[in-house]
Amino acid sequence: MTENPDMMPNIMPEMVIATTADKIYTGGCHCGAARFRVTGPVGKILICHCYDCRRTAGLSWAGIDAALDRFDLVKDASLKWYDSSAIAKRGFCGDCGASLFYQLHTASVIAIAPGMFDQSDQFEVAGQIYAASHPAWGPCYLRGLPHLDDVWNAPS
Ligand SMILES: [Zn+2]
Ligand SMILES: [Zn+2]
Repeated sequence: MTENPDMMPNIMPEMVIATTADKIYTGGCHCGAARFRVTGPVGKILICHCYDCRRTAGLSWAGIDAALDRFDLVKDASLKWYDSSAIAKRGFCGDCGASLFYQLHTASVIAIAPGMFDQSDQFEVAGQIYAASHPAWGPCYLRGLPHLDDVWNAPS
């Protein structure tokens, strides 16, 4: 990856899962046509209830941050990128439809859906954002989690 001096810093320190440092994680979509490999540390799971996540994933989406320079696509023949807003794109499998990745155009990290990992027992949930934008029937089962909108400094 090329260095961009305007890029935002790496994974936020308070989000890093220390026990994942230098560990290698693999994962991929449901059909296996899109596969990735990432070297830790990775971030804690952040659950997002925003409109864009709901419309692309079918319900709230969740991601963990990994450094782009420690992330590799092992298989990407089926991978499609979709600009879901002016500031970010999403990577999904064009064969099985799995919603794997979210990436701010200016970020040096990529958010990976935790369900795509082959092994994720060391992961932990940090909290949730954009809960107020969810329809009144939800977010489901997440009412006890901390709200991190201010911490995460979510773009609106
Ligand atoms: Zn797939
Ligand atoms: Zn979202």
